[in-house]
Amino acid sequence: MQTKIVKINDVREQEKDFEEAGAVIRNGGLVAFPTETVYGLGTNGLNAEACAGIYRAKGRPSDNPLILHVCDRAMVDVVAAEVTPLAEKILAAFCPGPITMLLPKRSAVPDSVTGGLGTVGVRMPDNDTARALIRAAGVPVAAPSANISGRPSPTTAEAVVADMEGRISVILDGGPCRFGVESTIVDCTGDTAVILRPGAVTREMLEEVCSRVEMDPALVGADTVPRAPGMKYTHYAPKAPLTLIHGKPEMLAEAFTKKIREEKSTGKKVGVIVSRGLAEKLKEVLPAEVIAVYGTQGNYQEIAAHLYEALRSFDHKDVDILLGEATEEDGLGLAIMNRFRKSAGGRIIEV
Ligand code: AMP
Ligand code: MG
Repeated sequence: MQTKIVKINDVREQEKDFEEAGAVIRNGGLVAFPTETVYGLGTNGLNAEACAGIYRAKGRPSDNPLILHVCDRAMVDVVAAEVTPLAEKILAAFCPGPITMLLPKRSAVPDSVTGGLGTVGVRMPDNDTARALIRAAGVPVAAPSANISGRPSPTTAEAVVADMEGRISVILDGGPCRFGVESTIVDCTGDTAVILRPGAVTREMLEEVCSRVEMDPALVGADTVPRAPGMKYTHYAPKAPLTLIHGKPEMLAEAFTKKIREEKSTGKKVGVIVSRGLAEKLKEVLPAEVIAVYGTQGNYQEIAAHLYEALRSFDHKDVDILLGEATEEDGLGLAIMNRFRKSAGGRIIEV
């Protein structure tokens, strides 16, 4: 399949591009598009056959449900059988924005979208290109991240091209994504907001709006199966195995240097994903091309926005192992570490 790549410079001036891409979606084809979190791979969310195409293109396990993307409040009612008072609060406070609400599903939503669950994930993205596309399609758009299953999510059109060229009809290139980690997923079926996946809308932000907020036990280390099925799969993995190192900032340079020397002595080629300050210090032991900088230490916005690109930057580099600098887990740090730990398959060294 020939993949058409369309650069979006001005949403209002490019009506024709959106009409075309919207028609592809309505007719069950696949279109990748930017959102404020990561790039999505979209199709008609009310068409089971079309949704099967998403699972095929990504190699995604069929029990891992898709989120339905809507362009406005009215479209929420097309997919959700009930909008609970809790969901209304979240809609008013955070939508459009990087948050997905789980609500009871309408029968119009195919079982293949929800992995057979009785709930549907609904999200209203805060990105002009995404919303113009959904509006042009005229249907809710089912869209997981536009990567091959298991790989880091794409936060640039180039990363989508790397994974999806030849597998899908259209890629809308809207430049890099603002947040860089996937949406916060919140179960809104009851009166307690239960966070199933942390994201840019943090627990602290939800607590300001909802009277009760809880974390899914699987997120806080309990030995239970996560309620967001996607959270149980290997995810966000770079091509070389990654190990994280966590410790006080002043201990990190020494800990990394020691570990790098150890690995090198066994003949391994090492790459690192670290903050700017640590990168400077590691230049003494590693060549610059195997040092990926994800941002400034403590600047979670910057780190979230660059994490997946840093992981992907090693795809075509000759490294045997990767070491990553863990962040703290307050605020947005929780979402960062949730993804980074999965990238590392849970391998973390405490110093
Ligand atoms: P992705 O779009 O690739 O970020 O993945 C979507 C995530 O949303 C996965 O982790 C799914 O498990 C989760 N999800 C979507 N719909 C539901 C639902 N109805 N119930 C629980 N989790 C869901
Ligand atoms: Mg994904």
